[in-house]
Amino acid sequence: MQVKTITILGYQYAYDSVRNPDNASVQALLAGCHGQAHLRPLCNCKEAGIPLQIRRIGNIYHLARMPEDGLSHAETCGFYGETEHAAHAASGENLRLGFSLNLTASETDGEITLSGLLNQLWTRARLNQWSQHNKPRSWKYVAEQIYAATRGLKLNGVSASRLLWVMPSMDESQVSNMYEGCMNFIKSCNASGRYALLIAPVGASEYQDGASCLRFRVMERPPVYIEYRHFPFKTYNLKEHGEYPYPVAIMLARVPDGKQYLRAADIAMLWMTPSYLPCATKERSVSLKQAMQTSEFISVPLSQDSGQILDITANIRKNGRLEPMFLTEPSISLPWSTHARKS
Ligand SMILES: [Zn+2]
Repeated sequence: MQVKTITILGYQYAYDSVRNPDNASVQALLAGCHGQAHLRPLCNCKEAGIPLQIRRIGNIYHLARMPEDGLSHAETCGFYGETEHAAHAASGENLRLGFSLNLTASETDGEITLSGLLNQLWTRARLNQWSQHNKPRSWKYVAEQIYAATRGLKLNGVSASRLLWVMPSMDESQVSNMYEGCMNFIKSCNASGRYALLIAPVGASEYQDGASCLRFRVMERPPVYIEYRHFPFKTYNLKEHGEYPYPVAIMLARVPDGKQYLRAADIAMLWMTPSYLPCATKERSVSLKQAMQTSEFISVPLSQDSGQILDITANIRKNGRLEPMFLTEPSISLPWSTHARKS
């Protein structure tokens, strides 16, 4: 049996000696490499060596897999596996948006579009990655991951926790609680002079007097009205037969005074395959869903600023390497990529 080794600063050490916190010389080496990306130790479970991160817990240095590389290790390696925690909380980090969250003022100096923000939240929550080892991911899990990934994050200087409402679950017995929670949250945002940012799966949409009326999946209420030019879709455009694909939307919403419905100033969407692995267009979701049946690991790159559709549909792991899958559908422009940036 091959003895497992770790390379630190060019020298190989037995894995067990590296793991032993009482090994003072190894601890000193790890301390010297800690926090220096170019000095990462390598796991030698595969010939090329796979970078590891060094974590300091108290005064002891530990090795851990890199969040992105868990599935690159050999299956017999102790570092093999999906990293389950969401991206670490972004303490105080501020994203400068290219649209205003303010109900009255419209000036803003950022670059990130509404579509880019949705992409960014999905990526930060690592929901753009999927592996066969994932249990099917529920919407409840998605909501928890997004909240975890946005802890400490600011949007145009305002704490994301004061702006963002993610539909908490698809549990039909909870819809009246979710309705109350949603309305109260948006009203409190509006009372501070701001829109709320809502993220929810869209179930149906229909044309009503110059506007689209959307309904979230499972939740009939509140309906959301948005100008038809911002959202020229009807249900049959959103969803084909069967459960997938269907889109998840992010919207800038307010509750008109005394009303039981929402008005959205803007909207952007991502289409979903099972387990909420996203894709930029409905057409791609079909081929991505097929790829999920034969792939071990998929990562979907998403534009996190402009929200533009990228040429690559996904990176798919085959024979230990990530290989790009390119789009085969004609190029598509989405209605929200043009108006989302208001300069
Ligand atoms: Zn390994």
